[in-house]
Amino acid sequence: MAYEDILEEMCAKYAVEYSPNYLVSIVSNEVPKRVAQVAKMLRLKQDTPKEQCKKCIHCGQLLPADPIFFSKNNARKDKLSSTCKECDRKNRIKRGVVNKDGDLRKKDPTLFKV
Ligand SMILES: [Zn+2]
Repeated sequence: MAYEDILEEMCAKYAVEYSPNYLVSIVSNEVPKRVAQVAKMLRLKQDTPKEQCKKCIHCGQLLPADPIFFSKNNARKDKLSSTCKECDRKNRIKRGVVNKDGDLRKKDPTLFKV
């Protein structure tokens, strides 16, 4: 798929318009980072022994006790949050702090009108 096709599809599906240069820069800078992060997560899940894993108190998943899966929390003995990052993200969306893309929501003043 050519960049022009991707730009057209983004415009049609998501109503956003970007220049071809911007798309090329995102693909060359951000995609490799994300792919490397996902590869690291998969490798950690596969190679970490159960004794070095931690159970998320929210979803019950057994995940490697690593900051890639659990947010840092210095108040806790193991310095990691008790809920996994995925549950943290879902909770933030549920509470309305962020939208599905992880962007902070701006307070809508019309919500408080009587
Ligand atoms: Zn979880």
